[in-house]
Amino acid sequence: MNTIYPYNNKTKFIIVTGGVISGLGKGVAAASIGALLSDRLKVVPVKCDGYLNTDPGTMNPTEHGEVYVLDDGGEVDMDFGHYERFLNVTAKKDWSLTMGRVFKMILEKERRGDYLGHTVQFIPHVTNLIKDHFYRIADQEKADVLLIEIGGTIGDLENQFYVEAVRQLSHEVGPQNALFVHLTYVPIPSGVNEQKSKPTQMSVRDLNERGIYPEIVIGRCEEYIKPHLKEKIGLFCNLPASHVVSGVDVKHVYEVPLVYDKEGVPEILSKRLGIYAPPRLDQWSKLVESLKRNQVTPRKTLTVAICGKYMALEDSYASVVEAINHASAHLDLRAEIRWVDTEKIEKGSITVEKALKGVDAVIVPGGFGSRGIEGKIQVIQYVRENKIPFLGICYGMQLSVVEFARHVCGMQGAGTIEMESENYHVEVPVIAYLPGQEKIKDMGATMRLGGHDVLIKSNTRAAEIYAGTATRERFRHRYEVNPQFVSQIEAGDPTGKNTQKLVFSGKASGEDIMQIMELTDHPYFMACQFHPELKSSLIYPAPLFLNLLKAADEKE
Ligand code: GLN
Repeated sequence: MNTIYPYNNKTKFIIVTGGVISGLGKGVAAASIGALLSDRLKVVPVKCDGYLNTDPGTMNPTEHGEVYVLDDGGEVDMDFGHYERFLNVTAKKDWSLTMGRVFKMILEKERRGDYLGHTVQFIPHVTNLIKDHFYRIADQEKADVLLIEIGGTIGDLENQFYVEAVRQLSHEVGPQNALFVHLTYVPIPSGVNEQKSKPTQMSVRDLNERGIYPEIVIGRCEEYIKPHLKEKIGLFCNLPASHVVSGVDVKHVYEVPLVYDKEGVPEILSKRLGIYAPPRLDQWSKLVESLKRNQVTPRKTLTVAICGKYMALEDSYASVVEAINHASAHLDLRAEIRWVDTEKIEKGSITVEKALKGVDAVIVPGGFGSRGIEGKIQVIQYVRENKIPFLGICYGMQLSVVEFARHVCGMQGAGTIEMESENYHVEVPVIAYLPGQEKIKDMGATMRLGGHDVLIKSNTRAAEIYAGTATRERFRHRYEVNPQFVSQIEAGDPTGKNTQKLVFSGKASGEDIMQIMELTDHPYFMACQFHPELKSSLIYPAPLFLNLLKAADEKE
């Protein structure tokens, strides 16, 4: 029942906890710390969540934000988006731990007889299992740094076992190999108008009660933390003032590593853990400068409409928004997002002309179910006919095929099987189940998920955009373009009146799955079955987004 310690003896553990309130951006804080090290060291992020779902794949995006999909098919928390974007790593599903997963593993072990003769208990069995998980990943990945983010706020009951596990871990590996970072909140109450340290003191005390002594305290605040307040927090938390870091509010998350760098975080980590890794942030800073400059004095402002149904929570499309930001930084322009609720268009409470008035580019992102989709189809028809630069993602591609089939190929009754219900029959299923999917009953992790190769047809727009014949992208879908109708759709208007053609310019390798489509006679009409936003980063913007904005920029 012992842990597998000693591990490789090489990995350093940086553990990030949060206090006072939730929503302070612990994921961004942890990713930013990682970004300061990942240039020269192998940093592996691990996220621990307290909820009982095995993974967030079955949660509604309005409840939990976007479901992030990894190359290995893992459906994980959107914080992994920050990790991949900031650390330039390809994360694995094993790096995401939920209490649901922890208990599942414990119960499997118990049934297997691993604990035979013993009473299975929270301590030591659950805590050991969590620790073993950390040590195993550190070992397997030969990580220089294991960056562990504990979800929630210190004191939350559901995260207690993680907290106890990392306390034990820090004791086992010794102080030279582990360091705790605590993110708190420094409010400036209105009327009082001064930075207040008490919530931070209380929250650190909460941690201390659990046997954890953070060595870096990051105070989220509207302003840089004043020197006297750093002294005061330091005094109450047994820290030099230099270990109290300003987590000042910034406009773009990409500024956070630059702030931490300025506040001296790399030096503290280097001194405390004996890791020398001065960050190289030149290109990163240049792009952040472009984002900031264009916020104030834009070279040009483009309005990009995102048309979907989860409009209640912008977090549902977090990576789409980030991909737009990345592209705009490279093109030295400001992209303003307009959220368009396609359900309103469908119900007729706003016309498509009005909803899209003055937009420079349109995105129809991924989605599920039949709500709002006729509105999306109206949007797609409008941008096709009015030559507005367009990117359709996943459901956005499937509905682009439906729209083209209905309005150009004359295939009345074209639709997706996803619309089928007791009251609605899809006569011409141009979008159908992927092979084998119709029999699946379980909802968790059953779609076609993760990274797949995309073979690109030569002499197409896609070949130009990707500058090559193949790429790898991330997928999450249950339906696909029905191979039976591909040639009929590519043939276009049977009367020959409309000369516009739809070309399937990207396909799966070895399978008949359409993965990219494009239209001729249009400045930019691209759609893809995958989620290009999941592979976009500040330094390497996703080509389909970059070229969407480029087309919009060049249009006038
Ligand atoms: N609902 C569609 C499918 O399952 C599209 C999925 C998506 O947009 N991620 O195929």
